[in-house]
Amino acid sequence: MTNYPQIRIRHKEELRLLGGHLWAFSNELLDLPRDLPPGTVVKLVRDRDGTPVGNGFYHPNSLIAFRLLTRNSDEAVDEAFLEKKIRESAAKRDLLLKWRNAVRLVHGESDLLPGLIVDKLDSILSFQITSAGFEAKKELVTELLQKIFKPTAIVEKNNSHLRKLEGLPLVEQLVFGSDPVTEIHDAAGTRYAVNVLAGQKTGFYLDQMENRARLRDFVHPGARVLDLFTNDGGFALNAALAGAASVTAVDESASALGRVDRNAELNDVKEAITTVEANCFDYVREVVDRFDVIILDPPALAKSKKDIAQARKAYLTLNTQTMRMLSPNGILVSCSCSHHIDSDELMSIIGEAARRARRTATVLERRGAGIDHPILASMPETEYLKVFILGVH
Ligand code: SAH
Repeated sequence: MTNYPQIRIRHKEELRLLGGHLWAFSNELLDLPRDLPPGTVVKLVRDRDGTPVGNGFYHPNSLIAFRLLTRNSDEAVDEAFLEKKIRESAAKRDLLLKWRNAVRLVHGESDLLPGLIVDKLDSILSFQITSAGFEAKKELVTELLQKIFKPTAIVEKNNSHLRKLEGLPLVEQLVFGSDPVTEIHDAAGTRYAVNVLAGQKTGFYLDQMENRARLRDFVHPGARVLDLFTNDGGFALNAALAGAASVTAVDESASALGRVDRNAELNDVKEAITTVEANCFDYVREVVDRFDVIILDPPALAKSKKDIAQARKAYLTLNTQTMRMLSPNGILVSCSCSHHIDSDELMSIIGEAARRARRTATVLERRGAGIDHPILASMPETEYLKVFILGVH
C-alpha cells in the first residue's frame, strides 16, 4: 500500500490517461495544492468516485501538472521501482549494443520514465532531466546508474530549455568519475570522438545514428555533398565513406567544426571533407555551387507553439534554397526536430518549397529517430524527429 497525497482529476479528463497518455494538464486537475513541492509523488484519482488512475509526479505551477509513472496505485515509486524501470528500458537496447557502443538507454515518456533521458556513450553515461519529479530524485538516479551500468563517468547535461517550464536551473557537470572523453562507433563502423561535457545536448546526437548510415545508400561515388548544420559531421563522414568526391560541412559552431576535423581524421576521410564556419541561412542565400546530395538538419526552429509561423517560414526558405542548389536528380535529406511541426506539416512545406524552386520532389523514404528513441503510440507528443529522403528532379 502507498500513502501518497491524492489529487483529483476532472470528470472525463482521466480518459486520455486511461488511453495510454502520461500527462494531465493543470486545467484538468481539481486540486492544485501549493504546499506540495514540485516533483512530489501523488496518487491521481477520478473526481466522481475516487477510483485511482495511477501514481506520478506532481507540479503545482507547470502546465504539465501530473506525469504518470505507474497505473498501479499500490506501487511505491521508490528505489526498487526506479531500478526495475531503468533496467527494463536498458534491456530493450541489448541487441543494438551488439553492433555499436553508443545508444539511448532511457527515452523519457516513451520508456515510461517521464522527464528522464539517459545516453550511453561507450563507458560514459550522460543524463538529462526535464521533470521536477526526476530532479527531486537526481541523486538516487545517479546512484542507480552507477550500480546498474558501472560507468567510468556520469555527466549531467541539464541544458534543455524544457527545464525552464518546470522552474529548474540549467546545469552541465561531471557528477561521477573523471575525464568524460571517449570514442564511439555505429553499426557500420563510423567512428566519432566524443567529449560528453563539450558536446551539444546529451553530448552527442544519437538520434540520427541510423539515418547517417542510411545516407550511404544515396551517395554515388564521386558525388558532391553539402552537409548543412553538420555538428560533429555525422552525415558528412558517412557521405565521404560512401565515396563522395567532396563534402562541405557547414555549422556556426567553431567547436563543432573542430570535432568534424577530428572525426574526419579518425575515419581517414580528411581529404574529402571541407568545413565552413557560417550561418546556414546566409550560406544557402549566398553560395551558388551545385551539389548532388544535400543534408539539411537544422536545430528545433519551433521550440514552442508561438514560434510555429516563423519556423514554417524558415523551413520553407531552407528547403527552397537547397532544392535550387541541387543538380538534376539530386538527393535532399530534409529533417526537422521541432515537436510543433509534424510530419504532414513538413511534407507540405517540402511540397511548397519544390513549387517555389520549380523542381519536382519525390519522397524516397520517410524516417524518424533511431529505434532507441521510440515514440509512445498513445502519446503523439513523443515524436519529434522527422527525416525525409527526397529525390529532387
Ligand atoms: N546533423 C547533425 C546534428 C545537427 S544539430 C548530426 O547529425 O549530428 C544542429 C546544429 O546546427 C548544431 O551543431 C548547431 O551548432 C548548428 N546551428 C544552429 N543554428 C545554426 C545556424 N543558423 N547556422 C549554422 N549552424 C547552426
